Amino acid sequence: MSEYEIVDAKEGAELTDENTIRCLDKGFVRLVDVMGDDSSVVQAARVSYGKGTKSVREDKRLINYLMKHRHTSPFEMVEFKFHCKMPIFVARQWIRHRTASVNELSGRYSVMKDEVWEPSPSDLRKQSQLNKQCSTQETVGEPHASKIIQEFKEDQRRLFEHYNSYLESGIAREIARANLPLSTYTEWYWKIDLHNLFHFLELRLAPEAQREIRVYAEAISEFVKRKCPLSWEAFEEHSLNGVRFSRSEIAILRSVIKENWLMDKIEEMRLNQLKKEGLSDSSIRVELTELREKLTGERLNY
Ligand SMILES: Cc1cc2nc3c(=O)[nH]c(=O)nc-3n(C[C@H](O)[C@H](O)[C@H](O)COP(=O)(O)OP(=O)(O)OC[C@H]3O[C@@H](n4cnc5c(N)ncnc54)[C@H](O)[C@@H]3O)c2cc1C
Repeated sequence: MSEYEIVDAKEGAELTDENTIRCLDKGFVRLVDVMGDDSSVVQAARVSYGKGTKSVREDKRLINYLMKHRHTSPFEMVEFKFHCKMPIFVARQWIRHRTASVNELSGRYSVMKDEVWEPSPSDLRKQSQLNKQCSTQETVGEPHASKIIQEFKEDQRRLFEHYNSYLESGIAREIARANLPLSTYTEWYWKIDLHNLFHFLELRLAPEAQREIRVYAEAISEFVKRKCPLSWEAFEEHSLNGVRFSRSEIAILRSVIKENWLMDKIEEMRLNQLKKEGLSDSSIRVELTELREKLTGERLNY
């Protein structure tokens, strides 16, 4: 029995609807294990900040504070382990995230299964003219789509036929697999802490990420939302839906805000948001001061 052998996903008894999300035509993300949850983040942070906070509301505020101020190490106290199956072209992008631990199916030890990603017409997106790395929403349409899909299938079938014939003629698996297509499915176990997982998700949920890896990032997000709802909420607020401005961009924004006397209006709107969230007067004062500092570039004492 090799240490590289991975449970067959189709036959594996562990594959239940509750812990598995299907991705693309034959892939999946299966949650294998989680160590910790929101309370682990809070527990670790309290080592720094004392034992003052206790209620869920205060836990939420503490997690929000940590995320906002990039006090990231408490998020490293939570670990997720997934079993994932994806085409090799998705795995190539995924593996660039070096802060995870990975154990992949071995094409040297195992015969590669004849399982390939087959595009549907809606997958045949056109090249973006604005961004050399991206596709557009527009697809090639018929009759091209059917012809391309047919060609994909024929090429994939032919390459697997050759692969199997090479194996039959005694060529080593490590050599025979070299001619298989990037659409071939692979599998791995992937373990990562929540801080680094959020970094992965920020990059791979972004609109610029390739749709085929974004599908997996979305599946993983579902598990994070279930297991760590408060951390997820803070991630959505400060990272996923936040934006970063360059020095030149913020200079323009600051001058527009100043010239048009917009600061008071912005503060008033933010104040209303914060009141609705039920923050205390002192927390509101801190939030408003931080916002003013960001938008004016002034350092204020509070
Ligand atoms: C839309 C998109 C397009 C991309 N295009 C390309 C491309 O064309 N070509 C290409 O090669 N890659 C490309 N990448 C991959 C990209 O350059 C990163 O390698 C990948 O996103 C992993 O990011 P990371 O290094 O921040 O993450 P991780 O490897 O998970 O690392 C997390 C963080 O840990 C730190 N870290 C980890 N390892 C080191 C180290 N050795 N030294 C210093 N700090 C470290 C860094 O702070 C890093 O941000 C692309 C990624 C995206 C999202």
